[in-house]
Amino acid sequence: MPRNPRYDVLFEPVRIGPVVAPNRFYQTPHATGMGYLKPESGAKLRGIKAEGGWGVVCTEYCSIHPSSDDSPFGFLTLWDDEDVRALAPTVEAIHAHGSLAGVELWHGGSHANNRLTREPILAPSARPALIPQPGSARAMDKADIKAFRGWHRAAALRAKRAGFDIVYCYAGHDYLPFQFLSPRINLRSDEYGGSLVNRVRLLRELIEDTRDAVGDRCAVAVRLSVDELHGPRGITSQGEGREILAMLAELPDLWDVNISGSLGNDSRSSRFSDEGFQEEHVAFVKALTTKPVVSVGRFTSPDSMLSQIRRGIQDFIGAARPSIADPFLPRKIDEGREDEIRECIGCNICRSANNEAVPLRCTQNPTIGEEWRRGWHPERFEATTTSSRVLVVGSGPAGLECALTLGRRGHRVMLAEAGRKLGGRINHEAGLPGLGYWARVRDYRLHMMAKLSSIEVFPESRLGAEDVLALEADHVVLATGSRWRRDGIGSLGEEAAELNRGAAILTPDDVFAGAEIAGPVLIYDDEHYAVGGALAEKFRREGHQVHLVTPAAMLSSWTQMTDEQFFVQKRLLELGVEPLLGHRLASATDGMAELTCVYTGRARRQEFGTLVLVTGRVAENGLYRDLTAMEGQWQAVGIRSLTRIGDCLAPSSIADAVYAGHRWAREFDREPAEIVPRRERPVPA
Ligand code: ADP
Ligand code: SF4
Repeated sequence: MPRNPRYDVLFEPVRIGPVVAPNRFYQTPHATGMGYLKPESGAKLRGIKAEGGWGVVCTEYCSIHPSSDDSPFGFLTLWDDEDVRALAPTVEAIHAHGSLAGVELWHGGSHANNRLTREPILAPSARPALIPQPGSARAMDKADIKAFRGWHRAAALRAKRAGFDIVYCYAGHDYLPFQFLSPRINLRSDEYGGSLVNRVRLLRELIEDTRDAVGDRCAVAVRLSVDELHGPRGITSQGEGREILAMLAELPDLWDVNISGSLGNDSRSSRFSDEGFQEEHVAFVKALTTKPVVSVGRFTSPDSMLSQIRRGIQDFIGAARPSIADPFLPRKIDEGREDEIRECIGCNICRSANNEAVPLRCTQNPTIGEEWRRGWHPERFEATTTSSRVLVVGSGPAGLECALTLGRRGHRVMLAEAGRKLGGRINHEAGLPGLGYWARVRDYRLHMMAKLSSIEVFPESRLGAEDVLALEADHVVLATGSRWRRDGIGSLGEEAAELNRGAAILTPDDVFAGAEIAGPVLIYDDEHYAVGGALAEKFRREGHQVHLVTPAAMLSSWTQMTDEQFFVQKRLLELGVEPLLGHRLASATDGMAELTCVYTGRARRQEFGTLVLVTGRVAENGLYRDLTAMEGQWQAVGIRSLTRIGDCLAPSSIADAVYAGHRWAREFDREPAEIVPRRERPVPA
C-alpha cells in the first residue's frame, strides 16, 4: 500500500551539520546488554533497525577510556584501534540501508564502578560513588580534566575511523559531563565550578574539541538532560537546563534532549507515563536553537509523531523502546501499514535485560537480541514447505504468538480457547491500575491473525483429551497457562503457610474472577513483580485499608530491574498503602494472619477481611497429563508431537511466554542441530 500522504513530513530528509538523515526517524542511543563483548550481535541488531527504516541508528553508551567501566553491564568501548575494528561492522550494517550511524561517547565519572578495570573513580569533586558501594570518587584536578578531554578527542577520532556519522558529547543521565553541570555534584571553586558559566565550561570544551577533531565529516550531537526532576535544587527545564541550552545553542549540530536524573525518569514505564510524557520538559528547546532537536516519549502512533513535528516540539522522532518493540515501525508507516505496528507496551522488560547484564529482550518483540544468535528477523519467517495442521490450545501470550507465527510460516492453525475472550492472563492483568497498555500484547496479535486465513479461532472451547484427539492435528501445542498458588510458597518463602481454607484467603485468580473483597485487605507479595503492588493500588483506590506485606526489603522488589521500583513504592506510600517489609506469612485463620520477621523470627499478628496471596504460579498442565497417559492413542490418530509452551511448562513473565510461542513456531520442524544458538567467543590475541 502507498504511504498515507499525511505522513510525508516524517519522511523528509534533515540535515545534521555535515551529514543528512534520510528521514525523521531517529533511534536514540539505547542499551542492548551486548556491548563490547558481543559485537556481532550488536551489529546485526542495529542493521535490522536501519533495514526497518530508522534514518539514524545510534549505539549504546560507548566508553572513551578504562576509567569509565560499567562492568558487568553491556557497554561499548572505543579505547583503542581494536575497538575500531570491532565497531566498524555495526557502522557497515547501518550504512547498508542508507541510514546514519551515531555513537554515544560516554564517561560515567562517579557513576561508573570501574569493577573490571580497577581504575580510581573520577568526579568533579570528591564524593561517594553515585552507585552505592564502599568507595569514593576522587576530585579531578586540572591535569585530569586535560586528560579527559584528550581521551574524548581520541575516542571521537576512532569513531570517525570506524565510520560513524554522528558523534555524541553525552551530558545526561548523571554521567561525567552532567556531573560538572550539576550544582549538587560539582562543588569546585576553580574555573570549572561555581557559576553556571564555569560549570558549563567542560561541556563547551568537549563540543569544541569534538568539532575540531571530527567535525569536517561527522555531526556533533549533544545529549543533554534538561531536567533531572529534582526540583529547584537540580537542573530544571525552567531554570539552568534552559540557560545551558541558551549558552550553547548553536555550538553542536544536533540537540538530543531528555529528562533524566536517573534512567528511570527518562525511560519511565507506561505504569507511570503516557506517550509524549517528556514534552512538557523539552518543548522549549527548539525556540532557543536553529539546530535540529530530537527527544523521546515512547512514540508509537504516527499521528502523535506528526504532531511533534507540526507543533515544532522536535525535528526528529526519537525512539528507543518503540524501535525495540518494532524495528520496522518506520517502514510500516512508509508502506501504509501503520495498523501493523507492534506497539511498545512500556513494560520496561528491555531495561531489565540490561540491568541483569544479559542481551536485550522485549515483551512485544521476541526476535530482539536474537538476530545474530538465532538468525531471527522480526518480519521475515521461513516459509514452510510441508504445511502442517497444528492445534494450539490456549490463547494467552504464548498461544497467540505461536499461532500467529505458525500462520505466517504457512502452517494451518486451529487455536482453541476455553474462555469467551482471547488473551489469557493479559485480559486480567491489563485491567489492573497502570497496566492498561499491556493489552497491546493481545491486540496486536489478534489484529495480525485476522489477516491470515490459515488461522481458525475457536473461543469458548475448553478442550479435554478426547477433543484434542478428535481434531486430527499433525502437532498439538499446549499453551494452557498457569494459576496462582494457594499455599503461600513464594520466591523467598520456601515453606507452605498454615492456612485455614475457610477464611477469606484468595489468590489473584479469585480476584480476577470477581470474588467479593472485604477490608482491611492484606496482600502478601512473595512474587515481587507487578501484580502484588498493582492489586494493592487497586484496592486502595477502591477505598479499602490495604496492608502490603513482603519478605523482601522493599515493595515490588523485582521492579528494580524494570527501573520502576522507586515509582511503585512512592505511589503506594502516597496512596496510603501500609507496607510491612521483611515479614513472612506463617499462618492465617479467621481474619488473623501471623507474620514473622525474616531476620529475628519475631511474630506479629495482623487482622484482615481478605488475604490475597501473590506468591507464585503453578503450571496448568492437567490436559498434558491426560494426553500423555494416552500416548498410544494420540499417535494412532496421527498426532506427531505434543508440546507444552509458556506458563503451562514453567510459569514466567509475559515476555517469556511470547518468546516460547515464537520459538516453537520457528523451530518445531527443524533439526535440533540447526537450532543451537550461536555464542560469541573471545578470540585469542
Ligand atoms: P501463557 O502466558 O503461557 O500464554 P495464559 O495463562 O496467559 O498462559 O493463557 C492460557 C490460556 O489457556 C487461558 O486463556 C486459558 O483459558 C486457556 N486454557 C487453559 N486450558 C485450556 C483448555 N483445556 N482448552 C482451551 N483453553 C484452555
Ligand atoms: Fe516496550 Fe516492553 Fe518491549 Fe521494552 S520490553 S520495548 S517497554 S514492549
